[in-house]
Amino acid sequence: MQCPYCDNEDTRVIDSRLSEGKDAIRRRRECLSCEKRFTTYERREPLRLMVIKRDGSREGFDRLKLQAGLAKACAKRQVSEEEIEFMVDEIEADLRERRRHEVTSRRLGDMALARLRKTDMVSYLRFASVYRQYTDVDQFRSELVRLAGSGR
Ligand SMILES: [Zn+2]
Repeated sequence: MQCPYCDNEDTRVIDSRLSEGKDAIRRRRECLSCEKRFTTYERREPLRLMVIKRDGSREGFDRLKLQAGLAKACAKRQVSEEEIEFMVDEIEADLRERRRHEVTSRRLGDMALARLRKTDMVSYLRFASVYRQYTDVDQFRSELVRLAGSGR
């Protein structure tokens, strides 16, 4: 990143935050040469992706919907808004890397579960119970046993 005052290329980031409906990352930078400060914005291309639902219907990928789903699973747990945001960022990054135009809701759910599992077990189970739609208690119990066996 070039300094707008002295054209030096070495700058350091002092602060980063999402802004403008979260489609842009605002970074406060300081030039290592003249020490002047300036702000840059990195705009994210919205992710264009179709989600294939269980019933076969399709809907556009909605980041906020995914975020809301995770937030619901993490309600009243020790998971910060930033952590949830970070999980969504990671999932989005994975989806971008796959370079496909579609993803099944099941796959999307699994991606969310993989991250919740590392973050908070209770949230993980809440999300799993909704996403995997456990048909009976035994199925849910076997998942619990499996988790207990994995040492978490
Ligand atoms: Zn400078």
